[in-house]
Amino acid sequence: MQPVFRFAPSPNGHLHLGHAFSALLNARMAAEKGGRFLIRFEDIDTSRCTDALMADCLADLAWLGLAWEEPVLRQSTQFARYRAAADDLAARGLAFRCACTRGDIQKAAGDNPPRDPDGAILYPGTCSRGDRRHHPAGEGPYALRLDSRAAIATLSGPLHWRETGEGAEQAISADPAIWGDVVLIRKDVPASYHLAVVLDDAMQGVTHVVRGRDLHTATAIHRLLQSLLGLPAPVYHHHALILDEEGRKLSKSSLSTPLRQLRAEGVMASEIRQRLGFG
Ligand code: GLU
Repeated sequence: MQPVFRFAPSPNGHLHLGHAFSALLNARMAAEKGGRFLIRFEDIDTSRCTDALMADCLADLAWLGLAWEEPVLRQSTQFARYRAAADDLAARGLAFRCACTRGDIQKAAGDNPPRDPDGAILYPGTCSRGDRRHHPAGEGPYALRLDSRAAIATLSGPLHWRETGEGAEQAISADPAIWGDVVLIRKDVPASYHLAVVLDDAMQGVTHVVRGRDLHTATAIHRLLQSLLGLPAPVYHHHALILDEEGRKLSKSSLSTPLRQLRAEGVMASEIRQRLGFG
C-alpha cells in the first residue's frame, strides 16, 4: 500500500515558519517512503477562513517548492458527512445534545474545576445527566458532545497509537478521558476539529499523520473516535515546534513573521528551507 501524507492547515491566517516546517517535513517523509502528499484545508470555521487566505496558502507552499496532489479537499464542503457520523454516534447513545453556553459551563463547574490538556474546563455533565432545562425538545441551537464515559466503555482494551516523532517507533498509550465530553458538532458549524480530522484522514487514506507536538495529547481523542467509527489508525509523527527568538511556539497568534512577509522582504525560499533544515 502506498503511504499517504497530508499537511492540513486551518486557513484562518497566513502561513508562518512553523507551518513551513510541517509542510516540508510531510513532503520529505512522503518522498522518502515513495508516498503521496496531500494538502487539506481545515476550513470548518467559515467565518475566519477565506478563499483569499487559501489561495495565498497554496501560493506560499508553491513558492517553498512544494508540489501536491489536486484537488485539495476543503472541509467546508464536507459538513453533511461530519453531521451523519455524529448523528450515528448519538443514535448509538454515544453522543448527546448540549445547549450550554460557556457561562453555563463555568457556573456548573464551580471553583477550580478540572481542565482538559488545552486548559478548557472539562464539561461538567449538565446535559448528559438528562437536565433538559437548557434545551427543551427540538429547540436549538445545540452542540453534540461525545458521551466520553459511554464511549470509553465500548473499548475492548487499552487504546494506543504508533508514534515515530521521538526516535524509534513506539506505542503511546492513549487516555481519552482527559478530554471529557468533547464537542463533536459545534453550535455554530456542523463540525468540530476532532471529528473532521479523523473522518477525513480515513476518507483520504492517510497512513501517516505528521503534525506539531501541540496535537500530541489530542491524538488520544482521535484514537477513541477512530475506534468508535471503525476507522483505521494512521501512524503518528508529532514533530517539535520551531521556537522563535523568545522561545515561543511559532503560531498565528504570536509575533512570528508570516512567510509572505519574509518573501516581501527579499528572503529566498531556499534560505527558509535551509534555516528549517531542508537545505
Ligand atoms: N488544522 C490543524 C492546524 O492547523 C492541524 C490538524 C492536524 O494536522 O491534524 O493546527
